This record gives sequence, C-alpha cells and structure tokens, in this order.
Amino acid sequence: MKTAAWPISFLVPLLITCAVLPARGDEYLNGIEWKEPAVVTPGENGGPPSDAVVLFDGKDLSAWNGAENWKIENGAMVCGRGDVRTKEGFGDCQLHIEWSSPTPATGSGQGRGNSGVFFMDAYELQVLDSYNNTTYFDGQAGAIYKQTPPAVNAMKPPGTWNVYDVIWTAPRFKDDGSLQSPAYITALQNGVLILNHFALKGDTPYTRPPQYTKHADRLPIRLQDHGNPTRFRNIWVRQIKAAEGKQVRKPYLKKDDGAEVPLE
Ligand code: MG
Repeated sequence: MKTAAWPISFLVPLLITCAVLPARGDEYLNGIEWKEPAVVTPGENGGPPSDAVVLFDGKDLSAWNGAENWKIENGAMVCGRGDVRTKEGFGDCQLHIEWSSPTPATGSGQGRGNSGVFFMDAYELQVLDSYNNTTYFDGQAGAIYKQTPPAVNAMKPPGTWNVYDVIWTAPRFKDDGSLQSPAYITALQNGVLILNHFALKGDTPYTRPPQYTKHADRLPIRLQDHGNPTRFRNIWVRQIKAAEGKQVRKPYLKKDDGAEVPLE
C-alpha cells in the first residue's frame, strides 16, 4: 500500500518552527533535596518483594501469636479456634494476603466462610464467602465491617484463591486522645479495586457504632476465627512511608541561559 506523502504546505512551517524554537524551555525545579529511594526487588507471582516482612510462607506460623489451634495443610494456614495476631506491630503498611473459602460451601450469610483481616487489631476488612451468598452488603467480603460495602463483588468461588492487596494508613491521634486524622484503606480483590481511600469511621464491632480510641502507632494484624475453616497463604506486609526530602531552597525556574528565577 502506498503511504501518502505529507503535503509540503504542512512540512515547511513545521521545519521552520523547529529551527527557530530553542531546544528546550525553562526548567521548573522544586528546591527539594530528595533522598534516593531504596531499591526493592519485586516478588514473582504475588510473592514478597525484597523488603517485605513475610507473615506466612506456607511452612510455619512463627510470625503469629495464638496459632496453637490453627494448622498448616498443603501450604495454607487453616483457621482454627481463636484469632491469631502477628507478633510484630504494623502501622501504615501494604498487605498482601491470599484466602480461600471452605469447600464445599456450607452455611449462609455471615455463617459462610466468615473470617476477617483486622488492621491494628481493631479495624476489620471482611473475609467471607460472598460467591452466590447474599448477606447485608456492609458485611460481605471486602466490606469494612458495618461501615461500607466493597465497590464491587470480585469474589472467586470457594476452593479457589482470592487475593487482597491493601494499602492501609493508620489513624493519627492528638496528645489529648482526640482524632487527628482517620484511618484510610485502599484495597484490591483479585486485582479489582473494591475500596478506594475509604476513611474509616472508627473500629468495627458488631454491637455498637464505630469509634476511635487512641492507640499505639503500630499494632498487630489479626485474622479472625468465626468458626469457619478459611485458608490463608502467601501473606506478607511492607511498612510504608512517604519519600523523604528536604526543602533546601524555594522553587525556581532555570532559564536556558542558566539564570535562576525564584518562584514565590
Ligand atoms: Mg468477619
């Protein structure tokens, strides 16, 4: 096929423009001296990145307190009697956790594959078999329990693996115990966004409204025993913090001739 030539009437003005314009414009500089970001080697197939704390790798439950009655089967930790809590505390973090609802599915509503991931021991991201299983929407899988449903239901069927990837921002408290800023959560289930920077109203109990009570900056992640043998695998967490930098001068424009023009 013959490619149409660009009309000369278009090419000539373009060439003249290129010749007249300087090679580059002014450069904006923000005046911040950034610390070089650490190098992190990403994991393969959802595995832990190089700087992650591995909470369960299929072999042992040593990262958890209270796991005496949980067991390991085929590389998965199976929910037993009593909640389990990480020995280490976490504040702002990125969590990856894979979970599989019991099969064959038994029970209905909240009684079907119920567990939960509690951030800071207090704030529940619901784990439930919500595949063809209706319950109150702010109690289905991916809900912040009794605060908001997930944006969508991205469940895979029981017996297969669901993945939560969560960005958690811890609440901040003032010295007098009052709330400075709420907890925020962003979560994907199986790669689908289910919670987008949702501001939590407080903790997530069954019996009363949510509330905030001042607590430590870092607290355990808890997995709930709700009487159903939900399985978990490939659990890892990364402490997260913002990039570090220092404002060493005011923002400025660097001109082509090297002159620097401060910006107010
Ligand atoms: Mg639950």
